[in-house]
Amino acid sequence: MRLDRLCLRDFRNYEQQELTLQDGVNLLIGPNAQGKTNVLEAVFLLTGSRSWRAGRKSEMVRFGAQSAFIEAGLHVRNRDFEIRMTLPLSGRGTTTVNGVKATRQSRLSDVLRCVLFAPEDLSLLRDGAAARRRFLDTALCQLRPRYAELLTEYQKLIDHKTRLLRDEERRAAMMAVLPDFDARIVTVGTALIGYRARFTALLAPICQEIYNDISGGREKLTMRYATVSTIEDPSGPQNELEAAFFRHLESHREAELRLGQCLSGPHKDDLVMEIDGRPCRAFASQGQTRSTALAMKFAERELFFRDCGEYPVLLLDDVLSELDSARQSYVVEHTPGGQAIITCCEDTGRFSPSGRRLRVENGRIF
Ligand code: ATP
Ligand code: MG
Repeated sequence: MRLDRLCLRDFRNYEQQELTLQDGVNLLIGPNAQGKTNVLEAVFLLTGSRSWRAGRKSEMVRFGAQSAFIEAGLHVRNRDFEIRMTLPLSGRGTTTVNGVKATRQSRLSDVLRCVLFAPEDLSLLRDGAAARRRFLDTALCQLRPRYAELLTEYQKLIDHKTRLLRDEERRAAMMAVLPDFDARIVTVGTALIGYRARFTALLAPICQEIYNDISGGREKLTMRYATVSTIEDPSGPQNELEAAFFRHLESHREAELRLGQCLSGPHKDDLVMEIDGRPCRAFASQGQTRSTALAMKFAERELFFRDCGEYPVLLLDDVLSELDSARQSYVVEHTPGGQAIITCCEDTGRFSPSGRRLRVENGRIF
């Protein structure tokens, strides 16, 4: 999987920029606020995922412009692809793959897959469960297009049900439709739970192995998927998951009505990481937290490789400067094998001389 060419027009601080990239390491070097992360953001959007940092699409349109435009040439599974994406200031954008309109964003992940590692990921363990759910969702939306569709439907169901729960005036009418909502939430929610359970089961041993490598084998990292408490085995058969989820919903119905919140379902899931049996969130040191985040990201990359036989494009956003030299070495040694786009403020010289070096200055790349 290789991104050969990228063209940005009116995207963030880029008015018009053409960029060619090589296999292996591509370094984007420049001072703060010049447009390094903006390039990674554009590439990440081409996977069909939402930006990890833009609240709204319109934020990515260059100030004063009406539409942002991203074009890319890729080489994937021995074929050439061209993706064109338009992001208008208002209304829906359009995307085409080889000239054919991609009606579902999830189709894009069939072409390009990326693993992004940014400084904010270093606190993946310290932050609340939402950060770890985002980790699961970002990976699974790229790996399984069906997952992305289910997740969108589930989020709509939860938003709609929350509005109903808060609508005091129409409570009687709402009680009549609530069972229908819950039935669909259970069907879609358990499908998501199944995907997440299978993904975690595959990821956990890889993550453990990588952590072992980084920490010199002194500690054992474990990863466990935690979902609706009445579900004993999240990898179990669908009908068992549905029955258990229903039980949980019923036991929380009164509280949901009282609080006007959806209390039960995979939107509350977590990925529990433990070192030597102790939860990282409460007990891990700074260094352990960083090693765990590193292990999770590189395990995700490895799993993508096992899934399709090609490494995803690795996007490293200024992460090296946050790591100590042992962890930096891990990243540098394990980046080859696929393509990487790496941003940094100054060239540390840690990446091989064969890496392509590009200078970023005020929305221009040289
Ligand atoms: P750092 O090293 O600090 O992370 P960076 O090079 O990664 O910096 P970016 O985040 O890529 O910086 O780019 C930030 C620049 O882009 C800022 O100057 C910001 O004002 C500008 N910018 C962001 N959104 C837009 C937009 N919609 N239109 C024009 N400029 C924008
Ligand atoms: Mg940046």
